[in-house]
Amino acid sequence: MSTIVQKFGGTSVGSTERIKRMAEKVIQEKKKGHDVVVVVSAMGKTTDTLVKFVSDITTKPSKRERDMLLSTGEQLTISLFAMALQQRGVEAISFTGWQAGIQTDSVLGNAHIESIDTRRIRSELDHGKVVVVAGFQGVTVDGDISTLGRGGSDITAAALAAALKADRCDIFTDVDGVYTSDPRFVPKASKITSLSYEDMKNLAVMGADVLHPRAVKHAKRFGIPLYIKSSFENVTGTLIHGKVKQNEASPVTGITFEKAIHRVDIFDCDDVEEFRESFMCELASRHIQGDVYTQSCRNTLSVLIKEEDLQEVLFILEKGKDRWKYSRIEERSNLSKVSVIGRNLKGRPEIKIRVCRMLLENAVKVKLIGESSISVTAVMEKRDVQSAVECLHTGLGLDYKNKIMASM
Ligand code: ADP
Ligand code: ASP
Ligand code: MG
Repeated sequence: MSTIVQKFGGTSVGSTERIKRMAEKVIQEKKKGHDVVVVVSAMGKTTDTLVKFVSDITTKPSKRERDMLLSTGEQLTISLFAMALQQRGVEAISFTGWQAGIQTDSVLGNAHIESIDTRRIRSELDHGKVVVVAGFQGVTVDGDISTLGRGGSDITAAALAAALKADRCDIFTDVDGVYTSDPRFVPKASKITSLSYEDMKNLAVMGADVLHPRAVKHAKRFGIPLYIKSSFENVTGTLIHGKVKQNEASPVTGITFEKAIHRVDIFDCDDVEEFRESFMCELASRHIQGDVYTQSCRNTLSVLIKEEDLQEVLFILEKGKDRWKYSRIEERSNLSKVSVIGRNLKGRPEIKIRVCRMLLENAVKVKLIGESSISVTAVMEKRDVQSAVECLHTGLGLDYKNKIMASM
């Protein structure tokens, strides 16, 4: 029997009506003879509400209690989803992360999946049941509930698909595929029907929320095809797999952006290179993604981080003050970053030059520009993001031309 995993995001299960609609999609696959594992997110904006509850109570929450609370959002959905299936005469059972055998490391709030003991899921599938698993959570070796970081249900789905050697992992969401930029923000964005794991990971790491970058990593390791599609429309989505022919003539995959980032400048570091290395190790040990830049003036290091990581980064810096001997820290909010994503960009300096020129021509004031082999990233004021993304999207030839774009 073939096994497939179907994941439904927050909007797709945002009401009991929608849960009933999504249950029909599961039943369709079950009728085709597949074993089906369903992964669900919390309903609608439930996780945001839970996060707000925490900040209403305390500024320094215990990570254990925070994860205990945040994991409840998905628990609500799994039981409703299983009941919706049962109501339609389909046998189903719901599992929280620990019941599904999902073991994580101990980095609470941003845990990584270390292993999955699939025996309990397999046994229920063998009994003909649909297994409905709570996304975004697992259990640590100490038996505490852990969460995987925002958007983490994608990771659960891909990791389960890998552990179960599934034939396919379908990610149902509120857009009908992966586009050259966020289609809600750039109306001229083009749909990409076929994408390599590498290109998808690069888009996701740099801000394309449509799929969590760690989901791609799990799928790639075991060659599981990921299919991103709409929960609400029956149209071709985006297939992410390992057999994509790269079009070397078009090195740019898309434009990503993160609207709310924080920049922390650390001034007068004693040994800026040593500091940079040990600081980046600290970030990595807590699974925090930060772009670190060395500034030539006054031995300054700048780090760009997501809003949700700010408190943790300030805590790391405060704790390491004696060791790193910097003079002071300055923090800037209201910044955004826009990235051009592609392949081997370091070998194509003309792309960075074109990016700088286009931003200048469109009066976007760039505060910082950095490059790597997969991206050229510009930091700017929030108000400039829209024009920056649009001018780069058009200027780099990504605007919508055909209904569906050919494979890149
Ligand atoms: P879900 O709750 O289903 O996981 P998310 O909100 O996490 O959904 O992800 C879907 C959203 O990702 C879309 O609504 C869209 O605004 C956004 N998005 C960002 N970049 C892209 C992109 N390149 N292609 C498609 N969608 C994107
Ligand atoms: N509910 C979690 C979040 O909102 C996980 C997810 O939706 O993937 O981040
Ligand atoms: Mg998501």
